Amino acid sequence: MSDFLQNPMVKQIAKSLNLPLPIPALLNRNNNAYSKNEWQTKKTAIVTTSDEDTEAQKIIQILKPYINESSLYQENIDAVVISGLAIDNIEMSVEFFTKAQLAVQKLNKNARVVVLSKKGNNAESITIQKSFEGFSRALSKELGKNGTTVNHLVIKDTPAEDVARAILFFISDKSSFITGQVIVLNNNYATAIQSTNQLLSGKTAIVTGAARGIGAATATFLAREGAKVIIVDVPQAEEDAKKLAEEINGDVLLMDITQENAVASIQKHVIDNYGQLDILINNAGITRDKTLAKMSIAQWNSIMQVNLKAAMNLTEAFIAKGFSKNPKIVGLASISGIAGNVGQTNYSASKAGMIAFMNTLFVEKGLMANAVAPGFIETKMTESLPLFVKEGGRRLSTLKQGGQPEDVAELITFLSSSLSDGVAGQVIRVCGGSMIGA
Ligand code: NAD
Repeated sequence: MSDFLQNPMVKQIAKSLNLPLPIPALLNRNNNAYSKNEWQTKKTAIVTTSDEDTEAQKIIQILKPYINESSLYQENIDAVVISGLAIDNIEMSVEFFTKAQLAVQKLNKNARVVVLSKKGNNAESITIQKSFEGFSRALSKELGKNGTTVNHLVIKDTPAEDVARAILFFISDKSSFITGQVIVLNNNYATAIQSTNQLLSGKTAIVTGAARGIGAATATFLAREGAKVIIVDVPQAEEDAKKLAEEINGDVLLMDITQENAVASIQKHVIDNYGQLDILINNAGITRDKTLAKMSIAQWNSIMQVNLKAAMNLTEAFIAKGFSKNPKIVGLASISGIAGNVGQTNYSASKAGMIAFMNTLFVEKGLMANAVAPGFIETKMTESLPLFVKEGGRRLSTLKQGGQPEDVAELITFLSSSLSDGVAGQVIRVCGGSMIGA
């Protein structure tokens, strides 16, 4: 579960022998609980590209108390938010280009770049606004070697409060492995930002498959933010699940989520003991890799049942009874569900289905549901892969390395909190800018 190119000794040998190894940048990560320190330590510039940019001005006013505001003209910076919101035609894009170029020249390593665009209202503004998405994706590939991330938020009548919250996550060091993403902010809850301390205080959460890997990291971070977490995992995972529950003062339900009655007993346990459920993380997942020609029905079925059907049953049960008002729902997909992978027709199908399921929960029911699509993450699931597959997964990416379970867990924690109130029906990749499915 470790990347040999991150080993200081290997780095030293490669350097002294002048070996052309793609040594990846060491990423800045902050896995402490949210606090204002998260942003105060970063010199952050907010760049508007027109005096008419009233939307960006509103966002800046909301961000001011949180960030350590800096100017591109004075010093190097750690984060920049570039607004293209007031740009309606090709001619005006020169101003955007000029400011963005200056910002990039002033960026320290491990910086965060967030670009804002909107949905235009005529052919030219729609075109130029959409072009900024291509700009952001390309820039993420240029800056990744420095550990810098570039993400893009598309605003669709989104209240400034909701845009500001999402910006806070994407300029933080909790989003270090997320880059090249275009996220549409199409939800509008627009409550004022409460304190960013103990974001999930008083909330009850379920994480399926939480005994280890991404699920365990997620349970830990939800608890870090004040949530009561119910760890659901198979009986064989008892030791790990109980140990984790002790560490995070959580609760444990040992059951296979595909078993008859599992969903009903999880639902009953929550209602009897906690009254309602605020956060549901459908994380449990398995792989049974074989090319289609050699795949058995059992290999197809087990994947569809664990990765998809059980998650659907659990979610639908709580929609019928047990969810609080405006629950947060996250489904674990994968970049395999976007791009497909050899030997994974079953897994890719289940993960593409998960993306669709989360989207329909928003589109049809207005629920705050999102899919998270990890790329190559260093866990037990990926440890068993052949070396050349592992190396491909790590190096064929903008950041040239695999991610940690904590990187995925931070994204899930964001999507479980009010910071993501503007985000629904999306699929966000946490993949270090993987070329797979890009
Ligand atoms: P993991 O194998 O380390 O952990 C999965 C957990 O789910 C285990 O604790 C397992 O016991 C539990 N589980 C499996 N079947 C279950 C069932 N029927 N009922 C209850 N619990 C069950 O996996 P991980 O790498 O932490 O992956 C977590 C999720 O992220 C999965 O959905 C996976 O498909 C997805 N994902 C992982 C990666 C990666 O690189 N690790 C990449 C893309 C997507």
